[in-house]
Amino acid sequence: MALMQIAEPGESTAPHQHRLAVGIDLGTTNSLVATVKSGAAEVLLNHDSQPLLPSVVRYLKDQTVVGAEAKAAQAIDPQNTIVSVKRFMGRGIADVAKYGALPYKFIDAPGMVKIETTAGVKSPVDVSADILRVLRIQAEEALAGELVGAVITVPAYFDDAQRQATKDAANIAGINVLRLLNEPTAAAIAYGLDNESKGTFAVFDLGGGTFDISILKLTKGVFEVLATNGDSSLGGDDFDQAIGAHWRKQLGLASADHGDTRRLLMKAREVKEMLTTQVNAESTLKLSYGQEFKLRLSQDEFWAMTQALVQRSLQPVKKALRDAKLGVADIDGIVMVGGATRMLHVQRAVTEFFGKPTLNNLDPDKVVALGAAIQANALAGNRTGEDLLLLDVIPLSLGLETMGGLAEKVIPRNSTIPIARAQEFTTYKDGQTAMAIHVVQGERELVKDCRSLAKFELRGIPPMVAGAARIQVTFQVDADGLLSVAARETVSGVSTQIEVKPSYGLSDNEIAEMLKASFSHAKDDADARVLSEEKVDAVRLIEAVQAAIKRDGDTLLDTAERAEILAAIAALTPMIETADARTIKAQVAELSRTTENFAARRMDRSVADALKGKRVEDMQSL
Ligand code: ADP
Ligand code: MG
Repeated sequence: MALMQIAEPGESTAPHQHRLAVGIDLGTTNSLVATVKSGAAEVLLNHDSQPLLPSVVRYLKDQTVVGAEAKAAQAIDPQNTIVSVKRFMGRGIADVAKYGALPYKFIDAPGMVKIETTAGVKSPVDVSADILRVLRIQAEEALAGELVGAVITVPAYFDDAQRQATKDAANIAGINVLRLLNEPTAAAIAYGLDNESKGTFAVFDLGGGTFDISILKLTKGVFEVLATNGDSSLGGDDFDQAIGAHWRKQLGLASADHGDTRRLLMKAREVKEMLTTQVNAESTLKLSYGQEFKLRLSQDEFWAMTQALVQRSLQPVKKALRDAKLGVADIDGIVMVGGATRMLHVQRAVTEFFGKPTLNNLDPDKVVALGAAIQANALAGNRTGEDLLLLDVIPLSLGLETMGGLAEKVIPRNSTIPIARAQEFTTYKDGQTAMAIHVVQGERELVKDCRSLAKFELRGIPPMVAGAARIQVTFQVDADGLLSVAARETVSGVSTQIEVKPSYGLSDNEIAEMLKASFSHAKDDADARVLSEEKVDAVRLIEAVQAAIKRDGDTLLDTAERAEILAAIAALTPMIETADARTIKAQVAELSRTTENFAARRMDRSVADALKGKRVEDMQSL
């Protein structure tokens, strides 16, 4: 018997200890866990000896069932069997309503929806944690040891709330998150694209219910996400639906029974998957009341009835290329991800679109987990040499509200993360001791058209004249895409800061809508900005003139001059609310003109005051 080395807990058995780390693809339809063994990434099999764990959780009174068994119960216990929970992560009730009729009892909770089940109220974070816990235990059993941590993948478009929700779920499941990694980046790593010297890659990910396209650029081993786009309601499920609808019509099926519909769709899926390797497929459908139907479909029929779905996936691809300012010829490689990219007509359409063959020699439904495993292995310190530093982008600009309801962008959209940007602001009023900081997200010029992320106040600014305080606001987005904002008055050093965890997230559709609105409103927005700036100027000037009159009006103004200035103010004041930018600007100029002489006399006097009492000798050095 060989002697085993034993170390105290916490003590290292260095130099060659391998630290157990895994990559987890927490998918909408399927989840899986992978690790690097003897230098190669591999997916760990679950209790059913399957690589894929269906992302389905069924809650019974005193038991939680996860995976294939839960999925099988979907038709008989829809209310307590949660599928595609990923779509609810970090989302409010209004977002979830957009998915159409779902069999769950949703509860409108602050921040994120919750679901009422026989086992009590569950949040999407709890449900995801239940899936992750199964994967963790599976990994610990397979690897016979405790994990130091995991890299968990998320869609590139996931926002702060969705990323934070994913991290929270991992914590509940007892997993130390080494970092979150964007799914397309993970896929690129699995293909070893990070070893190339440089290149631009498209990652085409068609999963069960969602489609994502990402354009990645690699320079010196560093990935940058140039653009992302997608369709949150396009996936393999839609192909099942198309087949199901076809059979219903063909066979004159009228059953509205929920269970029968499920059974029909399961058959559709089975046949769809068969048609990637054979030209004809058939199966048998048994309905709830015992009736049986023979189901048949040929590859040609299937391709014809779903050609429109395939074409639909190319629209976001075009948009992403446009956003990245690239043409198809600029793409060096196309990575196929997601089980639905196994379909031959999908592969053909993508190959034709890019005019070159796709990378598809790894299992498309495993590639994300494999890449995550490679990254986890590197982060756990098992890899010698240079570690990967991966860059991603933020999908929408982040900024602050400034005077007049304007949005000032601090970090523009598509900036690579991690990133920190600081911008200086100043006070607007004399003696102002507090400043409200409103963090917004979006591309539009006016705050009311952007999304509010957080509000906080910087207090204790020493009283100074307007414009003298120097308030530095720093935005920091970490490698996981989480934002924190800090504000500091640099003269006095008072500071405050906030972690921004928006109450709930935006869907990719909403992001697309916000972007579209910013393009279509570009002219209106620019006009609105000019108007708002003129208004701010007008208010500022009136306040300054009134303050000057109060201080020096009695001694430096004659009656006629004072009357002229007051008339100019009286004319300008109502304009601020009602007039257009040009009118306001003209009257601001007029008010400035009436105060020119007064301002000059105030200037002379303050110079004289400054010189008063000084001796001739002192003055020579001035
Ligand atoms: P997700 O990323 O949403 O978790 P997956 O990448 O696991 O999803 O993809 C699931 C989808 O892939 C399902 O719609 C499934 O039917 C489809 N799929 C899996 N294998 C095949 C196949 N051989 N042919 C066609 N579609 C397939
Ligand atoms: Mg996936």
